[in-house]
Order: sequence, then structure tokens, then C-alpha cells
Amino acid sequence: MSDTSSCIFCKIIRGELPCTKVYESKELIAFMDINPMNKGHVLIVPRQHAETLFDLDNSIAEPVFRAMREIGRAIMIATGADGLNVIQNNGEAAWQQVPHVHWHLIPRFRGDGYKPWGQKKYDTLEEMQDLASCIQKQL
Ligand code: AMP
Ligand code: ZN
Repeated sequence: MSDTSSCIFCKIIRGELPCTKVYESKELIAFMDINPMNKGHVLIVPRQHAETLFDLDNSIAEPVFRAMREIGRAIMIATGADGLNVIQNNGEAAWQQVPHVHWHLIPRFRGDGYKPWGQKKYDTLEEMQDLASCIQKQL
């Protein structure tokens, strides 16, 4: 979807929907996730409406990286977290619900009950190496 008129994050950016803001700059806005994975969960949202990471301009990289570090550090201090996940989902298959690219900053606490993501095995070393060369060829 590339329709900014119905995009909920564009509506938040335009001030048409409320949010609990923690930071904003000319490139991005950061606000509290309304359904946090843990309390203190913040979303970093570029002002540019782009559906996924692959639709964004490279110029956003530096402001987003800076925001991740500065807001991430602030979340950890404010919540007393033991760790912090930065997660960014692209496409429904990768759990993206809101089609306006964003980064999740999620404070983590020892014993907070979340399991590590699942892990699979390659059938053979060759299978892994073949896939690596397929990826390399696309670069
Ligand atoms: P994703 O699955 O990566 O697209 O994540 C979307 C996130 O946006 C979810 O964690 C939602 O809880 C969050 N979310 C959806 N609507 C709002 C809203 N109006 N204000 C704050 N967070 C929201
Ligand atoms: Zn949008």
C-alpha cells in the first residue's frame, strides 16, 4: 500500500491521530507502541511514507541509526532494562502489520518470558554455500 491518506502512521505524523511522542526531528518521529511487547516499547517512524526498508531513501539511514542509539539508550535507562531488541519487519510474511516502514525498540528483561526465535539447520554445508553464492550474485 502506498496510500498516505489511509496510512495510520502518516495520520499520526500529520497530527490527525494521537500518539505519545518521545522524539521528533525533520526526518522522523518516535512514539510509544500502543500494544507494547514490553512496557517502554517505542517505534521509530520516518516521515517519508515508504512501505518497506527497500522503498526508503538511503539518506534516512544516518538519522534512523542515530535515533536507535539515542532513544534505545534512553529506554534502557528509563525502564531499567537488561537488554534491548531492535526489530524491523518487511512484508506480512515477516509480521509487518503497518505498511509504513518502522523500527521497534523493545526493552528486554531477564525472565520476561519471550523465547529466542526458532533456528533451522541446512541439510548440507553445500546447500548453505550454494545459497550464499545465489545471494552474492544478486548484490
Ligand atoms: P509491525 O507488525 O512491525 O508492522 O508493527 C506495527 C506496530 O504498530 C505494532 O506493534 C502495533 O502495536 C503498533 N501500532 C499500531 N497502531 C498504533 C498506533 N495508533 N499507535 C502506536 N502504535 C501502534
Ligand atoms: Zn504512511
